Amino acid sequence: MQDCIIVGGGPAGLSAGIYLGRFLRRTRLYAAGRPRADHIPRSRNLAGWPDGVTGPELLDSMRRQLGHYDVEIRDERVTGATQIDGGFRLETEGGPVETRMLVLATGVTNRPPRIPEALHDEGVQRGLIRYCPICDAYEVQGRKVAILGSGPHAVAEGRFVRHYAEDVTVVRPEHAPLDDDGERALSEAGLKILPSHREAIRLEGEKIVVDMADGRSEAFDTLYVALGTDPHSDLARELGADLSESGCIPVDAHCETSVPGLFAIGDVIEGLDQIAYGMGHAAVACTAIHNRLLGR
Ligand SMILES: Cc1cc2nc3c(=O)[nH]c(=O)nc-3n(C[C@H](O)[C@H](O)[C@H](O)COP(=O)(O)OP(=O)(O)OC[C@H]3O[C@@H](n4cnc5c(N)ncnc54)[C@H](O)[C@@H]3O)c2cc1C
Repeated sequence: MQDCIIVGGGPAGLSAGIYLGRFLRRTRLYAAGRPRADHIPRSRNLAGWPDGVTGPELLDSMRRQLGHYDVEIRDERVTGATQIDGGFRLETEGGPVETRMLVLATGVTNRPPRIPEALHDEGVQRGLIRYCPICDAYEVQGRKVAILGSGPHAVAEGRFVRHYAEDVTVVRPEHAPLDDDGERALSEAGLKILPSHREAIRLEGEKIVVDMADGRSEAFDTLYVALGTDPHSDLARELGADLSESGCIPVDAHCETSVPGLFAIGDVIEGLDQIAYGMGHAAVACTAIHNRLLGR
């Protein structure tokens, strides 16, 4: 039986592996799928990287750091989980495994606009398409910015970006009309609205261009996608843990879920989706796990 299994090989899961490896805990980490961190063209808000760091560079250096410790990494998906006496049994692509403690660092998926994947990924790498104003609105100061979304989320994101840029337009998707309150909130916040958008987005030189249903087009320096996220909380649900309305996993001060011995860290828990925060969760959860196991 493992002392602990970590599911997810993003910044949160890899940090957890480093902590548990240094606590000499028998640990295995399962990593499948592309971490959200792998999309980051260059992060500039992570302390310790004065010139910024790309997502792939960060993940690679964390994996190398983890390699110094006796933690087994399996590039396999965990497909199911049940509670057993004294721990958990997981189904994985490589077969079943049992563990005393379980850490879910499974992240979330951003809902992308309906555009071809290659175009989308190119836009993200060039900073023409962005997802996280907290991470990089600093970089769009004085630019002409679009926010793709509707409802309170788009209003909040628009307000946030307006702090950095004068010219901010909310481009609402065709399938998600704004109600009167939404329209009023946007204009009160000094944001423009671009209606009837067919989610026809193209890259043209250094601009991102939105084509509207009425034939008009508008070019922006950057477009923030505010269409929401889908948390990867299936394993927590299967284990009977409480989930929030948005599908995230609520945790206590030690990052433990409503199921004893089941911990959750990083983007998948309710709260701020930031690398530093996920790394902090890993420190808190793994120290609690180590102390709990010392007591057994
Ligand atoms: C374009 C972009 C720019 C960003 N810029 C910044 C920035 O500058 N600063 C910052 O702090 N944050 C930034 N972020 C946010 C940051 O990427 C996330 O906060 C961070 O990646 C969360 O780490 P995580 O480990 O929780 O999740 P992730 O990085 O998403 O990793 C979770 C991993 O778990 C895997 N997984 C899920 N289920 C299973 C399973 N059943 N079995 C095995 N593996 C599984 C997933 O496939 C994924 O690989 C940015 C995000 C984007 C998209």
